[in-house]
Amino acid sequence: MSIPFFPPDLFEQDREVLLDLLHRIGTAADQRFILGEHTARFEHLLRTELPAEDVITCATGTSALTLTLRAMGVGPGDEVVVPAFGCAPLASTVAELGATPVFTDIRPHTMVIDPDLAEAAITPRTKVLVPAHLFSIMADMPRFTDLGRRHGLRVLEDSAVAQGAALGGKQAGTWGDAGVFSFVQVKSFGMPGEGGAVVTDDAELARTVRMLRNHGQDGRTRFLHHRIGYNSRFDEIQAAFQLHRFDGLAARLERRAQIADYYTARFESLVDAGIQPPPAGRDGRCFYVYTLLADRRDELRAHLRARGIETHVYYPLPLPHQPAFARFAPPGQRWPRAESAAARILSLPVHPQLSDAQVELIADAVHAFAPSRPLVRQEAR
Ligand SMILES: *Cc1c(COP(=O)(O)O)cnc(C)c1O
Repeated sequence: MSIPFFPPDLFEQDREVLLDLLHRIGTAADQRFILGEHTARFEHLLRTELPAEDVITCATGTSALTLTLRAMGVGPGDEVVVPAFGCAPLASTVAELGATPVFTDIRPHTMVIDPDLAEAAITPRTKVLVPAHLFSIMADMPRFTDLGRRHGLRVLEDSAVAQGAALGGKQAGTWGDAGVFSFVQVKSFGMPGEGGAVVTDDAELARTVRMLRNHGQDGRTRFLHHRIGYNSRFDEIQAAFQLHRFDGLAARLERRAQIADYYTARFESLVDAGIQPPPAGRDGRCFYVYTLLADRRDELRAHLRARGIETHVYYPLPLPHQPAFARFAPPGQRWPRAESAAARILSLPVHPQLSDAQVELIADAVHAFAPSRPLVRQEAR
């Protein structure tokens, strides 16, 4: 038996719906394929469900970051505090605007940006704080919103992978001055294509983002360009498909969380054997991935592969160690927790199509690699 990391039949249940939408939108009289009624309804649905004052869909999660940073006025000379461990757009979107990403180390177990270190990284040039939710765990948003208030900084909440999570009852994406989502297939509300969204209660920010996503036009007068913008528009077929799939989102996330609960319960006995599961619990969590820390990560990965179980390493390098971002790594500075995480991190399959038998098989295979020892456990490593 082989267990792929991504389900081979991701959208199988909705295949007929997608084909029907393709036909209906493709043959409709108005021939509207971007930013039409389906996009408007999808934005309305997200606004209502979060809730948030405004949701602006756009071409990708990366673009959602760019549009928001631009609307916040980020440019040359500005600094933006970002995690040292995460995906490339956290740094590239800032750098593309001529600003400087200031890499900040993470908390060792949860691997999300450390608010104390973020505060220490603030300088007179800092304009925006970008906490990112990653590896199933939301960043400490109460601390970051407080930091933003106390230092007069804007908070851009990267919730690209955390749609559907809530911390203390407040939805991911609604904590910052703005939040972003990504709908690329691996994310929590993934779809068969590219898409993103900006979430905000700030009407002025929303107006600017709306303009920037469509070449600086205001949505009323065509070919009147108020600002230099982007092409970052949303697709009508995808919007209609997401409207259809939204109903099943909670159940899919619940299945993921159940699998994660099971893994964590099974792996808690392996800490002394060098395998550390994420903290147990559901608050502020979204299991788009299930991520372990393993001292012998590469060996564990090979062991699982030999048993037909595919895993992934997000991410093999801290951002400041990437050649592309090396010029933003101050000489001599280290990010020891990010470095340790990059060497030990491993993600297991957690998609909702997994059967209970497959989930047990994966947990058994991890145990076979690192038998738990009945030693006295070290708490709170
Ligand atoms: C995926 C991701 C993005 C970018 O989203 P895309 O839709 O792939 O452009 C941004 N931030 C984080 C944390 C992500 O995981």
